[in-house]
Amino acid sequence: MEKQKEVVVSGLRPTGLLHLGNYFGALRNYVRMQEDYDCYFFVADWHSLTTHPDTKSLGENVRRVLAENIACGLDPEKVCLYLQSSVPEIAELYLYLNMLAYKGELEKTTTFKDKVRQQPENINAGLLTYPVLMTADIIIHRALYVPVGKDQEQHLEMARNYAQRFNHRYGELFPEPQAYNFGQELIKIPSLDGTGKMSKSENQFATIYLADDDDLIRKKVMKAKTDSGPLEKNSVKPDYIENLFQLMRLVSKSEIVHAFEKDFNECQIRYGDLKKQLADDIVSFISPIREKAVAIYSDTKYLKEVIQKGGENARERANETIRMARELIGLNYFS
Ligand code: AMP
Repeated sequence: MEKQKEVVVSGLRPTGLLHLGNYFGALRNYVRMQEDYDCYFFVADWHSLTTHPDTKSLGENVRRVLAENIACGLDPEKVCLYLQSSVPEIAELYLYLNMLAYKGELEKTTTFKDKVRQQPENINAGLLTYPVLMTADIIIHRALYVPVGKDQEQHLEMARNYAQRFNHRYGELFPEPQAYNFGQELIKIPSLDGTGKMSKSENQFATIYLADDDDLIRKKVMKAKTDSGPLEKNSVKPDYIENLFQLMRLVSKSEIVHAFEKDFNECQIRYGDLKKQLADDIVSFISPIREKAVAIYSDTKYLKEVIQKGGENARERANETIRMARELIGLNYFS
């Protein structure tokens, strides 16, 4: 008998253009996992409502995220690609899990504290319970692995807690999901100005988007923070320089990286040359993805078919889970 594939879930919010952080933190692993795992990847449109976006642009953003996912190599014939809002079972599970989540622990979540600082006028309950909805997204498919960037580590820990609490209270149903990066540390792609990480909505001139044209990529990279170079051989790199090397290790050939490492260690580095090389390599990496994404984005009929089929498949498994959850909780009064 063929061995059942392990289940993988992950999602991206349609809150703006995808960037190199989304690619190296998440999407690259989606593509690497699609052959060997049973993959459920979704566009997290409910999650995006917590920050009260103008919902008129949501449709466009959803189509763009889908197009970019496919342009990066995700094959809708191999994975289930769907919209969070087309699986109402997620909302039902979210409700059950909310009864097992405590105000104190939710208030301590780093992402919640960040949002409280960023939008003090809109501290809604959806924002507070974001990790609970994220848990529902994952365990609705009884997933084992979640390919995500480093910023999601704490949420995954909470997801394991909620899955455990459900199992403990009502009976064994959910595996404890693990953040996944092929056995390596989770990735954080820093912003080009040395402050924080690349992001869809903040720090836009220090973030490289998959939709940026060649000129814009070059401008952003050339503006990245540097200094006049190390004064002592084999110095430790300052953060903002290490960040440029980190990007280079991801997009450039290893002999190029080694040559610049050597120049740095021998105090001969010319940061202008390093940035020019890095910009060239990012351009070569992004331009084919950007062109594919534009073509896919304009094929609305294809995207609609993908999302319809994905929604049906996702609901089938979600429905199985919700039936078992109801039974374990004891909500099937007349069966
Ligand atoms: P979001 O953009 O918050 O919807 O995140 C979607 C996925 O991209 C999640 O798995 C994040 O962990 C990942 N991600 C977002 N920004 C970064 C970043 N700067 N570095 C690495 N991963 C990231």
